[in-house]
Amino acid sequence: MTSGRCKKCPPGGRCERCKARDRYRQRAYRGGIPRKLAKQIAFEIIRLATTGIDDDPYLLPDDGLIDPLAVEIVIYGERRIALTHAERLAAATALVQRRGTARMISMRLSLPRIITESECLNSTVPVLRSFASYGI
Ligand SMILES: [Zn+2]
Repeated sequence: MTSGRCKKCPPGGRCERCKARDRYRQRAYRGGIPRKLAKQIAFEIIRLATTGIDDDPYLLPDDGLIDPLAVEIVIYGERRIALTHAERLAAATALVQRRGTARMISMRLSLPRIITESECLNSTVPVLRSFASYGI
């Protein structure tokens, strides 16, 4: 499985970012968490990071649409962009399936709070506890 090259790739090779993206994609294919479970975990991570917080500058109002390009940009961590809740859920689900950690997901999605592994382990929500104890 190979990916394309970007403008920053050196001639005849690939830059660190592109290599990292390849490793990341390979990891995604190494058997994952079922989508339905990943979606539940994603939902709970977003909820944990946003509950009781008014200032969420990277959250867009829901318009009933999911912009797949925006979701993709966030999944690959290319830059910080605002998403709707539905887009956040789609991106976070994909990241859980790719074995992303809660911390990484919070950062990619620009959630108002960074959720840590230990926060998930200590959560009252069973899916978050089992997610954290997977050791991913
Ligand atoms: Zn590159």
